[in-house]
Amino acid sequence: MAAEPDAFSDWTRRAFIRTGVAAAGAVALGACARGSAPSHLDANGVAADLDGLARQVRGRFLREGSPLYDDARRVWNLAYDRRPLAMARCDGVDDVRRCVTFARRHDIPVAIRGGGHSYAGFGVADGALQVDLGAFNTVSVDPERRVASVGGGTRIKELLAMILPLGLHTPMGGCGDVGVAGLALAGGDTSPRGMYGTACDNVIGAQLVTADGDVLELGPDRNPDLFWAIRGGGGNFGVVTRLDFQLHPLLTQRRLSFMVGWNDIAGALRTFGELVRETPDVVRAGVTVDKDTGAVISTGHYGDAESASAHQAKWISAFRTLKPVVDTAVPTPQGQMWATTGLAVDGAFLEGLTDDRLVDVLARAALAGRSVGAMLFGLSNGVASRVPMADTAYPLRGVGFSSLLSAEWHTAAERVRAEQWVKEWGAALRPWARRAYVNYLAPSAPERIREVYGVNYARLARIKAQYDPANLFRSNQNIVPAIS
Ligand SMILES: Cc1cc2nc3c(=O)[nH]c(=O)nc-3n(C[C@H](O)[C@H](O)[C@H](O)COP(=O)(O)OP(=O)(O)OC[C@H]3O[C@@H](n4cnc5c(N)ncnc54)[C@H](O)[C@@H]3O)c2cc1C
Repeated sequence: MAAEPDAFSDWTRRAFIRTGVAAAGAVALGACARGSAPSHLDANGVAADLDGLARQVRGRFLREGSPLYDDARRVWNLAYDRRPLAMARCDGVDDVRRCVTFARRHDIPVAIRGGGHSYAGFGVADGALQVDLGAFNTVSVDPERRVASVGGGTRIKELLAMILPLGLHTPMGGCGDVGVAGLALAGGDTSPRGMYGTACDNVIGAQLVTADGDVLELGPDRNPDLFWAIRGGGGNFGVVTRLDFQLHPLLTQRRLSFMVGWNDIAGALRTFGELVRETPDVVRAGVTVDKDTGAVISTGHYGDAESASAHQAKWISAFRTLKPVVDTAVPTPQGQMWATTGLAVDGAFLEGLTDDRLVDVLARAALAGRSVGAMLFGLSNGVASRVPMADTAYPLRGVGFSSLLSAEWHTAAERVRAEQWVKEWGAALRPWARRAYVNYLAPSAPERIREVYGVNYARLARIKAQYDPANLFRSNQNIVPAIS
């Protein structure tokens, strides 16, 4: 078992708990050196203003020539080696406003950095002003209302460290270092979404700094258009300095998994596709294909022991030639960690796994990816699948599989193979995947983003035009402001 549920026994305590990490981080970083602006900026007068901004920002301010500039511009995906104009680790909302106002005045794009784990490297951009939210990692929990409020740069492990000991949880991703906002604003590929919806479905309020430098409160009755847009539309609408999440009781998952031989993948996928055609909300299911070890089919059950046993018996009988592995798990504060790497990705939201031609493509992709690339298919069912498409900007509704192709590299030769495999098999899946999870895409052309959001795109583009007509926030899967 991943962790003892008994360790989380104190969850009825009425307390308002606050971490002190943010304050400590800001003190440590505020003392860092401030370099001078690159000379090419002198011509248009930005440099003098940049000096002024550097003096006004309370947190660390770095630019080309500053010590730490090269360290600070590095992001998780080493494929992206970008050189921002400057990087401000903002110490409070006023710092964010100062940066956004400066960027707007000079028409300089803003790159928002939360946890720095964007597969597309969006936390850093050439020539941009980076708003680094690393010091926004305060977590406040109200156990009575079951609400957690997190700063815009909080990582998943920091949120879980505060809520799991109270016996509370909210759907999040598997890696503790990923930024909560970066994940939730794009929607989230999370569990247990069948029972609780996905991450953006549990956002009940937010604070956002707009391109005008206004600080807005968002919720069902406060700026409802923006509240709709940030639940799926990513960082397109401004800098989110706080997110409020609905919490739920922490659940234990009874897991069952099967290792599948390389040559049995097609058959196993077909069986899997049939088994998950109709699943109760308490069931989780997925397939992972590791480039070295092959495929693993897994399912989890969040309900009572008797129903879980019946569920497992059905799966064991369906996969009778494979050896079942059974255990139980709860999320851990640390989450699973992945080392920094260069990574090529593509995403697809597959509406089913019963089409023989699709299964054939997937099995061939797995074999071609042996020692090159990995595949992941997570079932999106239950509550997450039933939210009406137009209720949030996040478009991946209806039952389906949030799928990720990824291939990492450590040498130039590996990079060529990795990018080729992702490109080839991502394209092969496209006939089944007009929609995709934006966080699983490489930086994508406007047409692809329009396609991915489907019927929600037009409204997103109108809201973008209203709040960010100059497209200041464009280091993201960009929604182009609608032309009126
Ligand atoms: C190892 C690893 C594991 C992952 N696992 C999962 C998973 O299980 N489930 C899942 O859904 N995704 C997963 N992802 C994808 C992840 O959701 C995205 O990469 C996400 O963008 C990371 O957010 P971040 O804040 O860490 O990234 P950053 O690079 O800091 O930010 C990326 C972009 O998100 C937006 N953004 C971030 N914070 C804010 C904010 N406060 N206000 C406005 N915009 C903001 C901005 O556009 C920003 O440029 C994983 C990624 C990695 C690298």
